[in-house]
Amino acid sequence: MLQKNIKLYDLHLHSRFSSDSEADPAAEIEAAIKAGLSGMCFTEHNDFDYDNPESPNLFKLDFDNYTKNLFSIRDDFSLRSDAPEIYIGLEQGLTLPAGDRIESYDPEGKLDFIIGSSHVVDGLDPYYPQFWADKTIAEGVKRYFEYIYECVKTLNNFDVYGHLDYITRYIPDKSLKDNHDHLIPMDLIREILSVLIHKGKGIEINTAGWRKSYHANPSAPIIKLYKEIGGEIITTGSDAHSAADIGHGIVRAINVLKECGFKYVTFFSKRKPVFVSI
Ligand SMILES: [Zn+2]
Ligand SMILES: [Zn+2]
Repeated sequence: MLQKNIKLYDLHLHSRFSSDSEADPAAEIEAAIKAGLSGMCFTEHNDFDYDNPESPNLFKLDFDNYTKNLFSIRDDFSLRSDAPEIYIGLEQGLTLPAGDRIESYDPEGKLDFIIGSSHVVDGLDPYYPQFWADKTIAEGVKRYFEYIYECVKTLNNFDVYGHLDYITRYIPDKSLKDNHDHLIPMDLIREILSVLIHKGKGIEINTAGWRKSYHANPSAPIIKLYKEIGGEIITTGSDAHSAADIGHGIVRAINVLKECGFKYVTFFSKRKPVFVSI
């Protein structure tokens, strides 16, 4: 059971500064107050390699506009005694072709937290059928994790890996929705997790999976493996794109983490991890 005084952090959420959200950041902060969160972090999308000829700026963050606005909104809420700690971060799409731009992002160190995520693999998002067109399902899933392995070995400018098994949400066979463990290359995932631990990076538990699929991302066996091989840094995030989803599943996520042996969750301030007892 969750203790009453447990602190809840939602460190993965999007507002109107992300291409796929129209949410008002102030309304999301109000929702966080209602949900009783201790802390929240805005993590807007930036995907350099999200190629859409009709909309070339899709998922390209207007960094200056975003940070200017969010710093100002944060100042407004600093007068409120019931407001959570508000952090300002990023969900950076990790790809190999954009490596130089990813590594030199935010040179002035304005951000508190960067989630590195894989939305695009070999130029394609597994959300769309083109990704799967020339592969079996097993090949597509394996290729996704091979690509993540290359990204974690090569790139450093991120703090945790986002929704590590994101691809399981989009396996194009509904009969495999709640039955795909046999497709997950756990040896390769062990290698990915080892590199992350060695580099001092963490992972997140992303509760959107409970809304979009049947498990949080990554699934409990992957979280358990991460803990077993020495992983300590883990953040909780709803991946909300609207005020209604702020804080969704965070209590449930903490219960999963406790079952996996974690005694702490992490939040980030100025890119430094802070551990909070659960
Ligand atoms: Zn994402
Ligand atoms: Zn996200």
